[in-house]
Amino acid sequence: MKTHQYEVLIVGAGGAGLMAALYASRSASTAVLSKLYPTRSHTGTAQGGVGAALGNLEEDRPEWHTFDSVKGSDYLGDQDAIEFMCEAAPQVIYELEHMGLPFSRNPDGTIAQRPFGGHTNNVTGKPVTRACYAADRTGHMILQTLYQQCIKNKVTFFDEFHVVDLITVNGSVAGVVALELATGEMHVFHAKAVIFATGGHGRVWDVTSNAYAYTGDGVAITLRRGVPAEDMEFFQFHPTGIYRLGILITEGVRGEGGVLINDKGERFMERYAPKVKDLASRDVISRAMYLEMQEGRGVGGKRYLYLDVRPETVNKYAALDNRTRPDGSPFRVTGEEILAKLPDIIDFCHVYLGVDPVTQPMPVQQTAHYAMGGIPTNVHAEVYLDEKGAIMPGLYAAGEVACVSVHGANRLGTNSLLDIVVFGKEAGLRAAEFSGGASFQPLPGDAADFAREQFARLRDGSGTEKAADIAREMKTVMDDHVGVFRVKDGMQQALDKIRLLKERYKEVRAGDQGSAFNTDMLNIWELSNLLDLAEVTTVSALAREESRGGHARDDFPQRDDKKWLKHTMAWMREGDVKLRYKPVTITKYQPKERVY
Ligand SMILES: Cc1cc2nc3c(=O)[nH]c(=O)nc-3n(C[C@H](O)[C@H](O)[C@H](O)COP(=O)(O)OP(=O)(O)OC[C@H]3O[C@@H](n4cnc5c(N)ncnc54)[C@H](O)[C@@H]3O)c2cc1C
Repeated sequence: MKTHQYEVLIVGAGGAGLMAALYASRSASTAVLSKLYPTRSHTGTAQGGVGAALGNLEEDRPEWHTFDSVKGSDYLGDQDAIEFMCEAAPQVIYELEHMGLPFSRNPDGTIAQRPFGGHTNNVTGKPVTRACYAADRTGHMILQTLYQQCIKNKVTFFDEFHVVDLITVNGSVAGVVALELATGEMHVFHAKAVIFATGGHGRVWDVTSNAYAYTGDGVAITLRRGVPAEDMEFFQFHPTGIYRLGILITEGVRGEGGVLINDKGERFMERYAPKVKDLASRDVISRAMYLEMQEGRGVGGKRYLYLDVRPETVNKYAALDNRTRPDGSPFRVTGEEILAKLPDIIDFCHVYLGVDPVTQPMPVQQTAHYAMGGIPTNVHAEVYLDEKGAIMPGLYAAGEVACVSVHGANRLGTNSLLDIVVFGKEAGLRAAEFSGGASFQPLPGDAADFAREQFARLRDGSGTEKAADIAREMKTVMDDHVGVFRVKDGMQQALDKIRLLKERYKEVRAGDQGSAFNTDMLNIWELSNLLDLAEVTTVSALAREESRGGHARDDFPQRDDKKWLKHTMAWMREGDVKLRYKPVTITKYQPKERVY
C-alpha cells in the first residue's frame, strides 16, 4: 500500500478546494485529491453570478447584502458568519479579477452586475444589481481561473483519487484513505490538516440540477467518524429546472426580466410576492409553483410552468412594473441582448428541449439544487464536534459540504460561489497556520482497514439486490415525501423505506470485480453515502415541527421562533440518528416575518 505525506490535504478540487489550495500551498506542503478531474467539478456548472456589493451600477453596501442574506436564510443563518462573508466579498472578487477572471464588463470597464432573487436596496426594497457575472458561465470561469493559478503555483494534484475514509488519532486528524481509480489501489495520505471541500448531495433526489458526482461523500465520511451534520433538513429546491430533466435554468433569466407564467397565462408571482415578484427568494417561489400546480394551473394540467424571457413578454411586464435601469432609463430588452447575456441557457434549451427561449417559453419545474446543511464549521472553517463548540484539531470544511452557517434555512442565489471563495480561502490559510505549529500524528497500522472492509463487502455481497433499483426507490420516495412540501406521515413513510433500502443495500454485489477504473464499485459506495444522508435529512426534517426557508410543512405551516430558532446537529450512532440542537448566533437583526 502506498503512503504519502503532506502537511495539508484538500479533498475536492471545486472552487472551495482550489481556493484553499492556493492559500495553503503558500506556506505548507499541500496536495489536492479529487475524484474528478478538477475542471469537471460542479462549480464549473454555476451560471448566474457571484454576489458582492461592489455598487458598480447603483448604490449598494455590504450591510445590505448581510441583511438580505439574514432575511433570505429565514433568520436561521448565523449573523456573525454572514457579516464576515458579505464584508469580505468585494475584496475577494477583485482578487479573482486580478487573477484574470474574465468577468462581463459595463461600458466603463467595471465588472458587470445583475439583479438576483432576494438581493435588494434596503431603503427602497427594490432589486439591486449585486451579482457579478461572466455571461452565464460564472462558475466555469471561477474554476478555470483558480485551476490555472494552482498550476502556475505548482500545487500537487492527485486526480481521480476517491477519498473513502478520514483517519483520526486521539481525536485529531491524521490523514485520509483514498482509492486510485486507475488501479483500484488504496493509498494512505498522512497529513497534519485535512480540508473537506467535496460539494453537495442533490443526487439524493430524482429531479435535481446536481452533477452525478454530487453524492455527499464528505458529510457521509465524517458522519461515520463521529462528526455531526448540521441543518440537514434544509435543502433548496430551485424553482427553474428544465421539466423532467432538472437541468438548471439560472435565476439570472429572471434577473434579465424573465417571468413565470401559469396555464392561464397569469404572472402568478404577483399574488405571492407583490413587491419583488419573480425575484423573491427561491423557497418562496418554489412553494408558489407547487401551489399553482396543485390547484390545476400547471401547463396543460401537468407538473410544469412556463419561464418566459421572450423580449415582448419581458418588455410588457417591465413597463407594467415601471422597471428602470440603474441609470434611470426604462428597462427594455432585445432578442440580441438576451442571446448575449444567456448564451449557455439558450443552448441548453435548444439541445434538451428543442425550444428557442427568444421566441418560445421554457417548461420548468422545481429541482433539488443546494445543500444548506453539512459539516458544521465556524467562520475559520474549523469543524465542530458538538453543539457546545468543541472542534476537531486539524479538520476543516469549506464550500457546499460545510454548514457555517451562512445560508441558514434558505440560500440566496450567488451566495454559494461567494461562500466557496471566501471560506475556501479561510480554510487554506487556517489549515496552513495550524500545520505550521503541529506535528504529524502517528499513523495507525490499521489506517486503511475500515475502508477495505467497506469495499470487501461490495465484492462479497450475495448479489440478490441491484444498486440501481435501490437508488431509484430512494430518489422517488425522497421526491415524493421529503421535497418542497412535507408532512409527518409522508416523511415517516420515507424514513421506513430508506431504512429498508439500507438493509437491502447489504445484499448488493458489484458486477465489475476488477481493479482498474472500477466505477461500478465506486458508484455503489457512493450510494451508501446517499442513503445515509437521506436518512439523516429525513430524521432531522421529521423532528422540526415548523416551516422555515427550504423546510415547509403542511402540518406545521408557521415559523416557530420560540421553539425552533436553533440549528439541528445530527449524529449517526449505532445504526441510529441522534439529534441535538444549538442556538443561532444573532447579532444585529432580530427575527421578523419575511415580506417580499
Ligand atoms: C447547475 C448549478 C448552477 C449553480 N449556479 C450557481 C450560481 O450561479 N451562483 C452561486 O452562487 N451558486 C451556484 N450554484 C451552487 C454552487 O455552484 C455550488 O454550491 C458550488 O460551486 C460548490 O463548490 P464546492 O467547491 O463546494 O464543490 P464542487 O465544485 O462540487 O467540488 C467538489 C469537489 O470534490 C471532489 N470530491 C467529492 N467527493 C470526493 C471524494 N470522495 N474524494 C475525492 N474528491 C471528491 C470532486 O471531485 C470535486 O472536485 C449552482 C449549482 C448548480 C448545481
